[in-house]
Amino acid sequence: MIGPKPEGINVLWLQSGGCGGCTMSLLCADSCNLFEMLSSAGVRFLWHPSLSEETGVEVTRVMERCLSGQVTLDALCVEGSLLRGPNGTGRFHLLAGTGRPMIHWVRELASVARYTVAVGTCAAYGGVTAAGGNPTDACGLQYEGDEPGGLLGVEYRSRSGLPVINVAGCPTHPNWVVETLMCLAFGLFSERDMDALGRPRFYADHLVHHGCTRNEYYEFKASAEKPSDLGCMMENMGCKGTQAHADCNIRLWNSEGSCTRGGYACISCTEPGFEEPGHPFAQTPKIAGIPVGLPTDMPKAWFVALASLSKSATPRRVRENAVSDHQVITPAIRKTRLR
Ligand code: SF4
Ligand code: SF4
Repeated sequence: MIGPKPEGINVLWLQSGGCGGCTMSLLCADSCNLFEMLSSAGVRFLWHPSLSEETGVEVTRVMERCLSGQVTLDALCVEGSLLRGPNGTGRFHLLAGTGRPMIHWVRELASVARYTVAVGTCAAYGGVTAAGGNPTDACGLQYEGDEPGGLLGVEYRSRSGLPVINVAGCPTHPNWVVETLMCLAFGLFSERDMDALGRPRFYADHLVHHGCTRNEYYEFKASAEKPSDLGCMMENMGCKGTQAHADCNIRLWNSEGSCTRGGYACISCTEPGFEEPGHPFAQTPKIAGIPVGLPTDMPKAWFVALASLSKSATPRRVRENAVSDHQVITPAIRKTRLR
């Protein structure tokens, strides 16, 4: 590998209140040979529930060595939310074979870790596990929804001085995890690289709307009216791509797809609280016919004025294709001055 020699990092990966989907996503990393890429950067798994052979007592020993300082814990990765119930005991999730709540292990390991990484929205903000009545009192490592705090508290800093790095997403994109671990291994990650919600800026400084193949329909407010329509899904189908911080339409999934390219609205799974939007995921809530969730950095009056202007100027091709499941009118071929 050309470039600076990686310092290398020891990674311990724990799972708690979640579905394991972020690990499944990681194993689908396709833009690289995952294991070769990680090992060339010096990323060493001390233990991972799906990738390691060690089990039971052996795993406990790995964690105890980290706590005693015999082994350096560089990155503690936690996948899934932290279950504090019942009554703050954490006994809804005892780490098998230890009789101790997982939240105790996580608190202790986070106190010696050089970096603490929340893998996925559950570990970052609570996510789906914290939805509804939240009977398990689930929370994120350093957030509860969009409120700072969570299991480790507002003041928590890992040994490097950084707060928890929130690689949010449900699931998180495999390359967001790989890139974060690579940056840590190369010593190329600082607080400046995190946004206001603790997410790595390399993906959170983008919007899902950037690069969406439906952008022409969005420009003319030519909207899909039912699943499978080609039009923009913001007006009727619940798409939050103009507000969701992620590069899903630039850094494609499986090298070719994204939610919106697959015909599904972006439900903003990288944002705290996405799990309870207060309306059906595939419907856009409106007041007086105007979508409630407008683009974040545009005054409402401008949006309404632009929308009515663009609707009145929509070409027939765009208007009719928007409500069809394939292009019924193709772009006109005209002589232009282009050579
Ligand atoms: S479908 Fe969503 S992401 Fe795509 S153009 Fe419309 S609002 Fe943007
Ligand atoms: S497109 Fe939206 S819902 Fe889909 S993975 Fe990206 S951020 Fe999550």
